[in-house]
Amino acid sequence: MSRRFVCVVLSFVAAALSIGGGSATAQSQCPPVTSIQFPVDPAEFRLMQDFAVPSSRHQGRFHTGEDWYGGRGSSLGAEVRAIAAGRVTFSSPNGWGRDGGVIILEHQMPDGSIAYSQYGHIAEGNGVVFPATLSCVNGGDVIARVGDARPAPHLHFEIRVQNPDTPGAGYTWDDPTNIGLRRPSKFLYNWQTWLMSEGANGRSPVAWTADLADESAPNAPPITLRGGGMIVLDGDRVINLSYDGRVLWRVNLDQAAVGLIPFADAAAVIYASGGVRQINPDGSLGEAWSLGTGVDSAPMHVDGRGLLLFHTPNNELIAADEGARSILWRIRDVNPVRRYAFARDVGGVVTNDNRVITFDYDGTLVDEARLREAGALFGSAESDLLAYTRGGFWSITPAGEWVMIHSNVPPGGESAAIWREIDAFYLFDGTALRGYSMDGSVRWQVDLPGWAGDVRMSASPARDFLILTSSYGEIAVVRTSDGAVCNTAHIYGDRRSRVWHELGEDQVLRVYVADQVLGLDWGRFLLGCG
Ligand SMILES: [Zn+2]
Repeated sequence: MSRRFVCVVLSFVAAALSIGGGSATAQSQCPPVTSIQFPVDPAEFRLMQDFAVPSSRHQGRFHTGEDWYGGRGSSLGAEVRAIAAGRVTFSSPNGWGRDGGVIILEHQMPDGSIAYSQYGHIAEGNGVVFPATLSCVNGGDVIARVGDARPAPHLHFEIRVQNPDTPGAGYTWDDPTNIGLRRPSKFLYNWQTWLMSEGANGRSPVAWTADLADESAPNAPPITLRGGGMIVLDGDRVINLSYDGRVLWRVNLDQAAVGLIPFADAAAVIYASGGVRQINPDGSLGEAWSLGTGVDSAPMHVDGRGLLLFHTPNNELIAADEGARSILWRIRDVNPVRRYAFARDVGGVVTNDNRVITFDYDGTLVDEARLREAGALFGSAESDLLAYTRGGFWSITPAGEWVMIHSNVPPGGESAAIWREIDAFYLFDGTALRGYSMDGSVRWQVDLPGWAGDVRMSASPARDFLILTSSYGEIAVVRTSDGAVCNTAHIYGDRRSRVWHELGEDQVLRVYVADQVLGLDWGRFLLGCG
């Protein structure tokens, strides 16, 4: 579903008018949601049991919420806050019997939808009394305290789209998503970003969002079309998004797909079987052909060489021509690829067992190195192949030699990233981003705490800003001249997610993480940096 924020603004105005009128109906309604927060501090509480995981303590039934635990001795009695403005639809200190109290709140979301937040294993006490059923609460109101529950005091927190007055059992034999439950932290993180007002002139930088199939597997990079539209592989469907995030058409696929390649004026889908099918600009299917071998990775496009690389289920790296019509060469014994970069003379991949495999574009293996952590690769059609690892910052020559560029850089960890210009380079070590002059001196440094997973870094076309995104949903824009952090945002991502971003000529920064595409208005997102 596409949430267009023009509509959001209108619904705010409408809601404000109806409440401001002071009529009798206004008193029976509670204000719509304008901001959202976690029920407990996510910096102090951690996920003890995740959403939708089967529980051995409950005969393998699926967990309907998230259990938040604040550590031994500090969870019991901790304040539980309403995530947003809403109306109390259920409130009972004995809602779960000896397992404690339950509160359910109803929220009017800015896109017109209704969502319910449920808080379980909670108690009254120390000046906190549960709010009465049908009363209104404000976002951030303390509504309860964490009670004493098995196996340790914790908050059971749910988000659902139905059942306003039934506490439920906390576990279900059904897939929770199919019975109206949602992943709570995903709901909170995404809505926090969708409700961002931290834009230039106080206007939200979120131009649009496109929520794809919920909880789908990680996906392949999309194809961007002239005019800003996108063709996106979303599980077993191909979707065409308009320049402003509306779904123009969907095509259901009849077999598993691994990715898309640009083809004619639209795209072709690559199936895991090695089959290829043209998709026309209107969503109809066109010509079909076969690569001739099964593949299990998204296509990796080598700019300027007319090559497409794939990984295969029998651990080969294969190169096909750009149209995916024939296989040109194979390299054997290559584990699944995590990261890759293609430089002027050589390409490199980092595999999931942290090997860096370097090859030339005729398919000759040049070098194989083993890293302690994944590290980052960088390359472009004009540049050398660069690697940023625990062991430092390296150039990998066409002969496969690793030459240290500068010895004074901090180790590059699991979430490292590189961007290189003619007169400067930028290294993210997973925690801090540094801007360097070519002599290796640090021009500036800025901390980006809490990042994890795969990190992508690129520069804006005028080279004045760096764009960083992570597979865990972090987004940051940093000014290259002085390291100023122009803005940050966080949408949901997890260990299964992939990340992709692109700043379009239409001045929209498109970020694709997990099952969500976010369109950010570039000028507004830059805040004071613009
Ligand atoms: Zn629970």
